[in-house]
Amino acid sequence: MMPVVKANAYGHGVRQIVEGLPDADGFAVAQLDEGIALRKQGVSKPITVFHGFSNAQQLVLFVEYQLSPVISQQWQIDLLMQAGFRGPLSIWLKVNTGMGRLGFPVDQVAAIWNKLTGCSQIESVGLMMHFANADQPQHPLNQQQVAEFSALARQLNAPTSVSNSAAIMTQLYHGENWVRPGIMLYGASPLQEQTADSLGLKAVMTFSAELIAINQLAQGHSVGYGSTWSCSEDMPTGIVNVGYGDGYPRHATTGTPVIVNGQRTQLLGRVSMDSIIVDLRNVQATCGDRVELWGKQLPVDEVAITAQTISYELLCNVGRGFGA
Ligand SMILES: *Cc1c(COP(=O)(O)O)cnc(C)c1O
Repeated sequence: MMPVVKANAYGHGVRQIVEGLPDADGFAVAQLDEGIALRKQGVSKPITVFHGFSNAQQLVLFVEYQLSPVISQQWQIDLLMQAGFRGPLSIWLKVNTGMGRLGFPVDQVAAIWNKLTGCSQIESVGLMMHFANADQPQHPLNQQQVAEFSALARQLNAPTSVSNSAAIMTQLYHGENWVRPGIMLYGASPLQEQTADSLGLKAVMTFSAELIAINQLAQGHSVGYGSTWSCSEDMPTGIVNVGYGDGYPRHATTGTPVIVNGQRTQLLGRVSMDSIIVDLRNVQATCGDRVELWGKQLPVDEVAITAQTISYELLCNVGRGFGA
C-alpha cells in the first residue's frame, strides 16, 4: 500500500500524516520536491513520484534520493538510456488505458518495458495505470481499462499498481501489487453515490473557526457583498472569522451547512475573504463559540456539493503551505 500524500497530504500536513501511517509500505507524491522533502523527513521506504523527471538534472536527484519516477514520454526513456547514471533506480511505466492524461499507448508498452528491464542500472520496471471513472463503478470505461491493463500485466509479469481509493472500495481490479489510496485515508468519500459514513470512513481534518459577532437584523435587511440574501424576518445572524482566504470555498452558496456550537445551521449570502455570515435562528450561540465548517460533525462532501466542487479541492485549499 502506498498512501498518496501529494499536495501536503491533501492539505492535512504531510509530516504529521506520514508519521501517522507507520505501517505504510511506501508513499506516493506528485512532484520531485515533495519526494525529496519526505526523504529529508527520514522516510526510507519506497517513494513514487507521479510526475517523474523533466530533465537530466532532475533524474540525478531521483537517483540521489532513491525516488521512483513514473514515466510516460519517449524522451524520458531516451534520457534514461543516455544518462550515464549509476543505479539502482526503480521506475514505473504509466499506461494510458483511457484516462488520456499521462501514459504510453497500450501497444507501445511491451517494447519499452523489455528495453528498460534490460538496462542494468534499472532495478525494477512496474506498470501503473489510473482510472478515469472509478467514482462511478458502473461506468463502461472502467471494464475496458481493466481489460487492457490486465492483458499487459499477464504478458509482462511486471509489478503493478492500479487502484485509487474509489477502485479499492469497489474492488474494480484484482491482483495488483501496490494500491494507491488517497482521499479515503483522509475520511472523505471516493464514490459519488455513497457517503463517507456509509463506507466506514472517518474525517481526519476538522476545519473550524470562531463566531466573532452576533447581529440582530430587521426583515428585508441584506447580508454580504452583492446583497444576494435578505432576511425574511427579524432575525439574528452571526459573523464567523473564516473566508476564502483561509480555504473556505467562495462558491459556497446560501444554505451551505455549518455547525455553530454543535448545532447545524446555514451560510447566508456570499463568502468574503476572511468572514462568512451564518443564520442564528434557532441556534444557541455566544461570541467565541467554535464554528465547524467541516470535519467530524459535518462531512466535507456535503459542503463540496453546495460549493460545486469535490472534497479533494476543499481539503487541499485549507492546507496550502501549512506544515511546510
Ligand atoms: C491522486 C492520485 C491517486 C489517489 O487518488 P484518490 O482518489 O485520492 O484515492 C492515485 N493515483 C494517482 C496517479 C493519483 O494522481
